[in-house]
Amino acid sequence: MPRAIAYLRPDSVEDAVALLSDKSHQPLAGGTVLNGDDDPTPVTMVDLQGCGLDGIIGGDGGRLRLGAMTTLHDMLNDDRVPTGLAGAARAELPSTLRTLATVGGTVAAANADSILLAALLVHDARVELVGPGGHEVQSLDDLLKVGVADGYVVTAVEFDPSGDCVRQSTARTPSDTPIVSATARNAGDGIRLALTGMADYPVLADPLDPTTGLEPISDFRGSADYRRTLAEVLTKRAVNAVERVA
Ligand SMILES: Cc1cc2nc3c(=O)[nH]c(=O)nc-3n(C[C@H](O)[C@H](O)[C@H](O)COP(=O)(O)OP(=O)(O)OC[C@H]3O[C@@H](n4cnc5c(N)ncnc54)[C@H](O)[C@@H]3O)c2cc1C
Repeated sequence: MPRAIAYLRPDSVEDAVALLSDKSHQPLAGGTVLNGDDDPTPVTMVDLQGCGLDGIIGGDGGRLRLGAMTTLHDMLNDDRVPTGLAGAARAELPSTLRTLATVGGTVAAANADSILLAALLVHDARVELVGPGGHEVQSLDDLLKVGVADGYVVTAVEFDPSGDCVRQSTARTPSDTPIVSATARNAGDGIRLALTGMADYPVLADPLDPTTGLEPISDFRGSADYRRTLAEVLTKRAVNAVERVA
């Protein structure tokens, strides 16, 4: 049964935020999660495609700014997006979904296995939001811990495109979602490391001690101990690889 009981298409972020003050209203971006979800709760969908949130532009201090409605397909076709980050966008989803799924939806969905979020974390990503409290900017790292608050719209994600990232991962098959992945980047003042499959969302970790404080789940893809071992091994490989590139 379709979840959508009504469809609204505001033409500004301000109008979208006003519509989202009703708790039964939800932002609709690419719809790959929202339309596919088997949660039967009826939803009024507030489509963001008319709100001018597309486009990739250069930001302050050499940073790159992705409008929230930038698709994963757009990311991997833009030469300014570093190769490792574009590769994460490519590996995240099959081509049919990449043309729909957006950067803003990926941040809001905060999938624990998202290698794109891990790549954005190591590129020091910051998220711009608009909501009832006005305009806010939060580090992606902080936002993933609490999630996007009800009534807020992600308007953009900006990051430092310098110093490409390298990903090492283990999955059941080469094209499957990794059980655990480690993404590393030389940030100039040290190596930034992000892990997937080790918490409820992708996390930044210490390259010298990647698993302390993390409590991975055990499931049909691997036990918590197996995940910890993978995280240690994959971190060493990713850090070695990024040091070779530097
Ligand atoms: C078959 C399939 C496989 C998938 N595989 C993976 C995978 O391997 N790894 C992975 O990480 N994900 C995966 N996903 C999840 C999903 O595709 C991604 O998270 C996707 O990028 C979501 O983007 P979207 O634009 O389609 O979001 P939507 O479905 O439109 O929205 C997702 C959620 O975010 C909210 N939202 C959307 N945009 C905004 C915004 N700008 N501001 C505030 N809230 C917003 C929506 O209200 C909704 O709750 C998969 C999905 C499918 C259907």
